[in-house]
Amino acid sequence: MSNFEKPGVPTDRYGLGAAGMPLNDHTDYRPIPADAYGTLFLPDRLAKGYHVEEINDGVHYVTSGAYDNMFIRTGNGVIVVDAPPLLGTNLLKAIREVTDEPVTHFIYSHFHSDHVGAAHMFGPDVTYIAHDYTREMLQRWPDLNGGAPVPTETFSTHETLDVNGVKVDLDYKGTNHTPGNIFVYAREQKVLAAIDIISPGWSAFKNCDASENIRGWAEAHDWILEYDFKAVVSGHVNRWGTREDALASRAYTNDIIDFAKEALDEAEDLEFIQRHGFSNAWLLWENYFNEMTNYVTKKTLEKVTDNGQNWGDRLAAADVMTKYHAYTILEALRLEYGLTSRFEKRILPQ
Ligand SMILES: [Zn+2]
Repeated sequence: MSNFEKPGVPTDRYGLGAAGMPLNDHTDYRPIPADAYGTLFLPDRLAKGYHVEEINDGVHYVTSGAYDNMFIRTGNGVIVVDAPPLLGTNLLKAIREVTDEPVTHFIYSHFHSDHVGAAHMFGPDVTYIAHDYTREMLQRWPDLNGGAPVPTETFSTHETLDVNGVKVDLDYKGTNHTPGNIFVYAREQKVLAAIDIISPGWSAFKNCDASENIRGWAEAHDWILEYDFKAVVSGHVNRWGTREDALASRAYTNDIIDFAKEALDEAEDLEFIQRHGFSNAWLLWENYFNEMTNYVTKKTLEKVTDNGQNWGDRLAAADVMTKYHAYTILEALRLEYGLTSRFEKRILPQ
C-alpha cells in the first residue's frame, strides 16, 4: 500500500487515494442518448475510419467520429479548414472521394495541434491562412511533430477570402477558446466553422473545452448566434450543429455561470472551515471549490430547460463534464469577472 492509500477506499492502480483523480465507468453515468452518436456508428465511418458529407453546395463535413473539420470546393481549388491528426490522411481520402480539384488554401481555426497538426499534408504550395496570433504561436513554439507549418498569410480582425467567386469570411472577435481562434463563414452556403466552443448534442469537453479565456469562450456562443447559419462545424464530437444546438449550448453555459454566481453568494459559512481549519491552505481551498462546484453541478444537471428536459438528460455526458465546467467557471468568476465570494469577503482586510 502506498502512503497515499486509505484502507477501504476504492482507488486506482497507482494507489493514490485522494492524491489521484477518480476513475469512473458507465455505471456511474447516464446512458448516452442514441441521437448523440451522430456519425459514430455509420457504416462508412466504421469501414473507412471517417465520414464525409456535403452540408451545402460544395461545403463538406468530415469527421473521424471524435474530431471534425470542413472543406469547400470552389470549382478551381479546395479550401480546407483545419486538419486534425486523428483524421490525418483520411482527410485527403475524404477530399479525393468528392473532387479532383487540388487543395489551394488551408485555414487554421486556431493553433491547437489537435485540430491543425496534420496541416503539413497539403505541402508547401498551399496558402496557409491564420490569425496573427496563430502565426506567432507556431513561430515561437513550432509543432514538435512538424505538423503545422507557419502560416503564410495572416490577418487581425477580418478578411474575406475569394476563391473562384466563392467567398469565405474570416472573423476574429477577440480572445476566446484561445487567442487567435477565428470563425470561418461560407457566406452563400451559410455554413460556419467555430471550433472548440460548442459540441452539438453534448456537453463541451473538460474545463470549457480546455479554454484559455473562459469569459471570451462563454461570449463566443453569442458570436456564433450572430451569424445566419444553417450548420456549424464545431470540431467535436460526432456531427455538425444547428442553431438549436448553439442555443442549447449557450443556455447550458449561462446556467452554469448563473449557478456559479449563486454559489459564490452562498459560500459564507462553509462547514469545512471548522472541520479543517486554515493549517493546510490548499486542503481548505480544495474543499471550498469542491463544495461550490458540487452546488453548481447539482443545480445545473437538475435545471429543467426550455424543452422540458433537464440538462443531465438533454446533453450527452453532461453528468461527466459539468463538474469540470463548474470549477473552471467558478475560478473564472474570481479571475476574469472580478467577483468575490461571501467567504472571501469575510476574510479580506476591511
Ligand atoms: Zn482548441
